[in-house]
Amino acid sequence: MNKQIPLIAIDTVSDPEGTTSLASHGGEVNTQKIVSQSLYASRKKIYVRKITGFFQKIRAYSLTILLLMYFTFCWFTVGGEPLILFDIDARKFHLFGAIFWPQDFTLLAFALIISAFGLFFITSLFGRVWCGYSCPQTVWSFMFIWLEEFFEGSRNQRIKSDKSGLNLQKLLRKTAKHLSWLLLALATGITFVGYFIPVRELIADIGSLSLTSSWAIFWIIFFTAATYINAGWLREQVCIYMCPYARFQSVMFNENTLIVGYDKQRGEPRGSRSRQEIKSGLGDCVDCQLCVQVCPTGIDIRDGLQYECIGCALCIDACDSIMKKLNYSTGLIRYASEKEFETGKPQRKFDAKTIAYAALVILSVSIFTLLLIQRPLLELSVMRERGALYQENGMGLIENFYLLKVINKKERAEKYILYIENIDASLASKNLLKVGPGEVKNFPISVVMDPTNISEPAMEIRFKLQEVNQEHASVTVNSKFLGPINDW
Ligand code: SF4
Ligand code: SF4
Repeated sequence: MNKQIPLIAIDTVSDPEGTTSLASHGGEVNTQKIVSQSLYASRKKIYVRKITGFFQKIRAYSLTILLLMYFTFCWFTVGGEPLILFDIDARKFHLFGAIFWPQDFTLLAFALIISAFGLFFITSLFGRVWCGYSCPQTVWSFMFIWLEEFFEGSRNQRIKSDKSGLNLQKLLRKTAKHLSWLLLALATGITFVGYFIPVRELIADIGSLSLTSSWAIFWIIFFTAATYINAGWLREQVCIYMCPYARFQSVMFNENTLIVGYDKQRGEPRGSRSRQEIKSGLGDCVDCQLCVQVCPTGIDIRDGLQYECIGCALCIDACDSIMKKLNYSTGLIRYASEKEFETGKPQRKFDAKTIAYAALVILSVSIFTLLLIQRPLLELSVMRERGALYQENGMGLIENFYLLKVINKKERAEKYILYIENIDASLASKNLLKVGPGEVKNFPISVVMDPTNISEPAMEIRFKLQEVNQEHASVTVNSKFLGPINDW
């Protein structure tokens, strides 16, 4: 809704008569006028200009590596197990050869904590390097911009085309662009779901049009649409208005944090000039606007540090290309800390915040390692059979029934022996249990006891499960053995 609101603006003007004054201060008076301002700012389309340079090469490499990782990791296997698979149905998470279970939630939580502190540490040192080079929004937006340029031409051609009326060539170019965006978005959506459903099965099901899982279909459509809209249409608006990280990362910044900045002392006063011309009194900025034209968020870095700046360094490459043409030294726009821009001297310092983040990373990595080393690779849970208290068998023995759930977290099959540790009872079922690699297996068992040994109606019973070849690999779980109340 484009709502107009009246604002009162106070202007200071020179009014010797002082007839409309609110207050007068020696010939200067304040006049009041009412202006209207819209609360809604419509988006100005940004036509990003292509630029090459050192930082664009780094981005091209990082983009290629990240996209390759994203599109291929779900296909790789390690020892027959997926490299990365969040198998929600089987409640198993495969991560680089290791299998994690819901019981390992603490480990996964610590992995996230390490990532968060690591990101804070990197941000406090190198500013928005994550946003500029590896955030999925940036990676996919750059891919979409590249496709846009491929089908619709350079920045000037795109501006001209958008201003002109519809013709067949424009229609074909736009259709090809949107189709390519949709295809890339679809590949992104399918790959994403391929990290939750084994990707080979997923592709086979899609190929044979037999994908029946409604949640898989929903998430493929959702991620395809999200990618297409975010990277194709919203682009910088996601960073400026939607991303919470963009908002709160300024608290991690300090005067030593590396930022992309414009060297005002060297550049100002700006002014245009020809290549040969030497204009005295002017700084190095020739006001060519190239740094603005290449900026994917449409800002002018010469206005100072702005939260819209994602630190992509496109403006550095743009400005360096101009400086080289003019035979000036490069680095009018460069990576440096605020302190360096102020003093003109290179200096890098770790402040207390950065040291604190580093300490937190070390601490959380240590706890994670400890938890990982101590992670039990065998788990046992015991449930009494529902409904039945106990029964007397044909030999006059009291029998109780249980369901044992054994989880073997190892990547090889194991054999276990089941014991009853604390009471004089015996297993009526087999005591050698076999469980496959990464398998969860249920074993219904029964335990018998001579009624003369029953001392209480609900006796504590302790089950011990021990790996056949490993004396120290064992687990114990307590339960209850019920007997006839009147006989004890
Ligand atoms: S100002 Fe420069 S570094 Fe910041 S977003 Fe724009 S081009 Fe990228
Ligand atoms: S690219 Fe460099 S020279 Fe051109 S306007 Fe920007 S800062 Fe000035």
